[in-house]
Amino acid sequence: MEIIRQYDWTILQCNRQVRQIQKLKSIGNTLRRWNMRRILRRNPIPHHVWRRVTRRIAIFHELGAVQMAHLRELTAWFLHSKAINGAHGLEVTLAMRVAVAAQACLLILDLDIDYFDNWVEVILYPGAFRVNHEQVDAIGLVHNDANVLSGESWLRGPVILSWDDVERDTYSPQPGRNVVLHEFAHKLDGLNGAANGLPPLRRGMSRRRWAEDFSAAYDALCLQVAAGKSACINPYAATSPAEFFAVASEYFFTARDILKKSCPNVERQLTLFYRQAGVR
Ligand SMILES: [Zn+2]
Repeated sequence: MEIIRQYDWTILQCNRQVRQIQKLKSIGNTLRRWNMRRILRRNPIPHHVWRRVTRRIAIFHELGAVQMAHLRELTAWFLHSKAINGAHGLEVTLAMRVAVAAQACLLILDLDIDYFDNWVEVILYPGAFRVNHEQVDAIGLVHNDANVLSGESWLRGPVILSWDDVERDTYSPQPGRNVVLHEFAHKLDGLNGAANGLPPLRRGMSRRRWAEDFSAAYDALCLQVAAGKSACINPYAATSPAEFFAVASEYFFTARDILKKSCPNVERQLTLFYRQAGVR
């Protein structure tokens, strides 16, 4: 009887702890919502700027009114929380900032703003920029590789973009190509500490299933590219699993039908992850 009483007492304590945790979570969510409302009240995006920029961006045309309103809130939060700075003399206007932030926020429209944690800056260059990165080869030799890039995403650092490329992909889009979506998809991927094509998944999603579906599609693409066959999606995706995820994300938002046809299991996983049933 005594043991039963102790057991009952333990259960009671556990239930109390669960209720306390739920209460703390609820308080945390309330504070977050209050903070978000405060940010939106103090930093609204002028309606005429929002309309002028977003109505020309094709990837938003499938979104409904509620989704667009939420995207506007996320964009205002982004502009308040992250710095978008020009480099090499580029003057960054509000319209440019909105164009970058709104497209970046499309990725997290049905996720949480926590997915953009751990970094604070976007750097815009006027055009493609040159980088020198040291690479260590298989036998340990260090090479200094120079590349000209349209975008780059540092694991715990800034996102760097060429405005020329952002402008082209934003206002003259091509299927499967959007440098903003690409570089910010790397941010989601790197959130768990490594750029490996596996972002922190939603509750209920299977990491094993994700890894199987992405690995199979990535391996198939690598074989196609190695054999010199034309690939259904941008062959740059065969560079690494991280690039495959970023490129697949570009297709998910800009040419979902192509992704669905060429990599149906990947498209299904991205639908579970990004949701956004209305986006093509
Ligand atoms: Zn990339």
